[in-house]
Amino acid sequence: MFPAVKRVTDMEKNNETILVTQSSMPPIEEYVEAIQSIWKSKWLTNMGKLHEELTARLQKEFEAEHFLLFSNGHMALELALQSLGLQGEVITTPFTFLSTTLAIIRNGLTPVFCDIDPVRLTIDPDKIEALITEKTCAIVGVHIYGIPCETRAIEAVAAKHGLRVIYDAAHAFHVRYLGQNIANYGDISMFSFHATKVYHTIEGGGVVCRDFKVYDRLSRLRNFGFFLGAEDGDQFGVNAKMSEFHAAMGLCNLQHIQQEIHRRKKVSMHYDMRLGKVNGLQLFPNINGLERNYAYYPVIFHDTAPKNRDEAYDSLQKYGITARKYFYPLTSRFSCFKDILQPEKTPVAQDISDRILCLPLYAALPIEAVNRICDILLN
Ligand SMILES: *Cc1c(COP(=O)(O)O)cnc(C)c1O
Repeated sequence: MFPAVKRVTDMEKNNETILVTQSSMPPIEEYVEAIQSIWKSKWLTNMGKLHEELTARLQKEFEAEHFLLFSNGHMALELALQSLGLQGEVITTPFTFLSTTLAIIRNGLTPVFCDIDPVRLTIDPDKIEALITEKTCAIVGVHIYGIPCETRAIEAVAAKHGLRVIYDAAHAFHVRYLGQNIANYGDISMFSFHATKVYHTIEGGGVVCRDFKVYDRLSRLRNFGFFLGAEDGDQFGVNAKMSEFHAAMGLCNLQHIQQEIHRRKKVSMHYDMRLGKVNGLQLFPNINGLERNYAYYPVIFHDTAPKNRDEAYDSLQKYGITARKYFYPLTSRFSCFKDILQPEKTPVAQDISDRILCLPLYAALPIEAVNRICDILLN
């Protein structure tokens, strides 16, 4: 059998290399148990029993009125924007994963980039109003690294100007802010359940929304726009449905989410202890009313830090440790947008993106590895 030799080398390699994240897996017996029923029903996808069970469980987790599952977070966001029937300009942040900007552009909307707050790293609400024109229709904020946007201030500006508010909450599963689940801010929140996120369904995504009409439209958009019965459609939909196998993984992982976050917290706190007092390093911000999910461990390297960001990245790499320059470059610097977007208009975002590095963080990361990483960064 071909993989025998390769498997050994992979294992050896895994012993010495550390990646920025490692997907959490439930015990394999739990997954096997969860998929048994699929062999009986022969129902593999299209809103099956496991899909409906996961929908109900996550709706409860999010304390949401309306919740829908999708094949991935990107399609969830793209369809969420489509479901609102938006036209014109959308004020958003360039300090995010490419998906946020692509979802806006692929809806025929124009992203207008607002600079970020240098501590919170989310959209700076004081800079929104100056960007509003008669074409502005919405604000798309990102709870980057699970740091909540300044929801009150953003929503106040939006209410004043009659704008929709959509949050890319891909990083914010299980985050609570000011006494409620983060999912319940704005008109719509999108979550990613990708394998690299705190909670995952291998590939998957979800949308929480307030308005039944939006919910109803979204439920058709993810299934080719079909009405029930599939004999008519009134939306230009796509296929963005989650399969039973993905839903099964989601149900299994949900059983372990508390422990997952607890273990990540322990790793995070050890980093804090080692790096917290180092001159020139800016760590995760302290924010009133925030209950974190420990999704990422971002570090900003100021000029007085022992190393700059790229030196830190390279020296870790030399020891087989892969940190990630999330989010570098700004999405507004990608060449696919070169004629439309102006990164120089968001100098704070540009500066942070040149200084930030996400250190490895996952539930199974040993404390000795954290020490090794800190030793390399500080020597
Ligand atoms: C992961 C991610 C997405 C996209 O989610 P997928 O499930 O990978 O499609 C969107 N926005 C942000 C900020 C992300 O990190």
